Amino acid sequence: QDAFDHPDFYALDDLLTEEHKLIRSSIRDFVKREISPYIEDWAQRAHFPYEIVKKFGDIGAFGPTIPTEYGGGGLDYISYGLIMQEIERGDSGMRSTASVQGSLVMYPIYKFGNEAQRKKYLPKLASGEWLGCFGLTEPDHGSNPGGMVTNFKDMGDHYLLNGAKMWISNSPKADIAVVWAKNEQGRIHGLVVERGMPGFSTPETHGKWSLRASTTGELVFDNVKVPKENLLPNKNGLGAPLMCLDSARYGIAWGAIGAAMDCYDSARRYAMERIQFGKPIASFQLVQKKLAEMLTEITKAQLLNWRLGVLMNEGKATTPQISMAKRNSVQMALEIAREARQIHGGMGITGEYPIMRHMMNLESVVTYEGTHDIHLLILGNTITGIPAFV
Ligand code: FAD
Repeated sequence: QDAFDHPDFYALDDLLTEEHKLIRSSIRDFVKREISPYIEDWAQRAHFPYEIVKKFGDIGAFGPTIPTEYGGGGLDYISYGLIMQEIERGDSGMRSTASVQGSLVMYPIYKFGNEAQRKKYLPKLASGEWLGCFGLTEPDHGSNPGGMVTNFKDMGDHYLLNGAKMWISNSPKADIAVVWAKNEQGRIHGLVVERGMPGFSTPETHGKWSLRASTTGELVFDNVKVPKENLLPNKNGLGAPLMCLDSARYGIAWGAIGAAMDCYDSARRYAMERIQFGKPIASFQLVQKKLAEMLTEITKAQLLNWRLGVLMNEGKATTPQISMAKRNSVQMALEIAREARQIHGGMGITGEYPIMRHMMNLESVVTYEGTHDIHLLILGNTITGIPAFV
């Protein structure tokens, strides 16, 4: 990792501002110092390094696009993308921690919350004093979150929340959860549930072979009394959580390029150094083919993401555009991880190199925040006007 130089075959750096490049290099230094030396060990031990939360807060990795008056970075979407790219070059699990906090917890509180909620939660989330999580998926409702059964009843002076969420990133350590639940009329609302509320628990999910350095768990609500002021008032319906997912998926589209770049960089170096048949394996045509295709795919994804970032900045990006970029980047990164694993031969399966960890991580990334196939069907619906997933 010493002299990492990101692939920039089409001189995309010319389209970045000095501030963008400064942000990228400061996050790159952070990852090199605080993540890369330890990540293999954390992942092997399935250890979530809780202290990273405060450090992410210090470098501005939480809520980069949230206005500074609430503790956010006040930055544009290209900056946000670059931050996610650099963190995921370190590890997708680390990037998941940052994505969830920024796009799935701070974003809904900022967009759908009132001023008191913004002031209460956002600065502490931005600084990493508090960790948050986002509860949408349920045991029986993954790709179809609208079918959720978690619900709350109006009890006059509070709400009574019941149900369960599953596969929730950050949940075992989270101080607060943004939870999506149905009211008595079946309308979906967001509620902020705080650790310590009686009846609320967050059991950890064990045995993952993917995102091992990220902590995942359930959210269980057993007659939890939620104060009325914890309901996010400014948007309801399934569209509210889906808006959060758009923002997070945009970050994933950039993040997955980071994982792909790391695999490509490692494969290129290994191919130059590994001697077989008296020559570096990089001199064989089949290895060059793999490297050339990796660079081509990374470059195409970079161009797609950059343009999407501009559309995000202009407030013009659409959900299907974000679906296309998320789907493209993650699949591209998975294929590059698999090819890079081949180039590393047997060494590719060990923790000496980051490849296998990235590959296993990406198996979650290709599934969460809308699976690869669901994003394809969103595009199919856009093309034909016929929703094939219902
Ligand atoms: P299912 O919906 O059961 O899908 C199984 C398969 O069926 C998939 O291949 C899918 O593409 C396919 N399928 C489903 N419906 C259709 C259809 N109509 N047409 C064609 N194919 C279909 N959720 C949160 O709310 N918060 C989090 O923080 C969070 N973090 C996560 C972290 C990890 C590590 C993982 C693995 C998941 C996380 N998730 C989180 C949940 C994630 O978003 C879901 O796993 C995802 O939406 C898919 O749901 P599912 O696993 O229930 O799969």
